[in-house]
Amino acid sequence: MSSHAVSRLRSERLARSLKPFVSRGSRSERCPGCRVIPSYCLCAWRPRVEVQAGVCLLMYDVEALKPSNTGWLIADLVADTHAFGWQRTEVDPRLLALLDDPQYAPCVVFPGEYAEPERVIEVLPPPTDGRRPLFILLDATWTEARKMFRKSPYLNRFPVLSLRPEQLSRYRLRRSKRDEHLCTAEVAALCLELAGEPCAAQALDAWLDLFTEHYLSAKHRRVLDEQSPAHQAIRPFL
Ligand SMILES: [Zn+2]
Repeated sequence: MSSHAVSRLRSERLARSLKPFVSRGSRSERCPGCRVIPSYCLCAWRPRVEVQAGVCLLMYDVEALKPSNTGWLIADLVADTHAFGWQRTEVDPRLLALLDDPQYAPCVVFPGEYAEPERVIEVLPPPTDGRRPLFILLDATWTEARKMFRKSPYLNRFPVLSLRPEQLSRYRLRRSKRDEHLCTAEVAALCLELAGEPCAAQALDAWLDLFTEHYLSAKHRRVLDEQSPAHQAIRPFL
């Protein structure tokens, strides 16, 4: 499998590390395609969907190195995914070039209460000028994400796409999610839905569920059931 934006960022970040990054369970061998130990590899189940929208992941420091990072799953599915490590004092010139690319209509996905009201949008404007949406997602813990949002002046000129509470609760209900916090892949799925790409949104949700099942099964050394609901849900996208 060819490497994608997040796996490339991961390699770059590893190369810059002075000491090896040790995360829980990172001592065991992992599949380079899906980051799960080889006997639980889910690469053969990766959905294939056409996606129009682009995604730009800004990842906080070691986020790309975490084996459970879900930005990786977005890059698996959305061909036009870009990933950058975020630093307070420096901006990658490739990121600035991407934000200036006229083929995109970038927006920062973030809760509206943190932005000036005139920047906040809740729906995407219809694509009149042929530009494709570019969803800028801050891939970090909530505290880190707020810091990134405040300290990235190059993002200030873009609208802030704020997901509405009823959208979020409908999503949680549909996925029987009890947790208040959505992970980055879930936020991306909601964005794809807003962009009028429900098939891609469903595929991403299904991919996240399957990853979670394989990842947790590997962690607890449980036998995988290829007939489980998560495996069934991915089949239409293979
Ligand atoms: Zn794999």
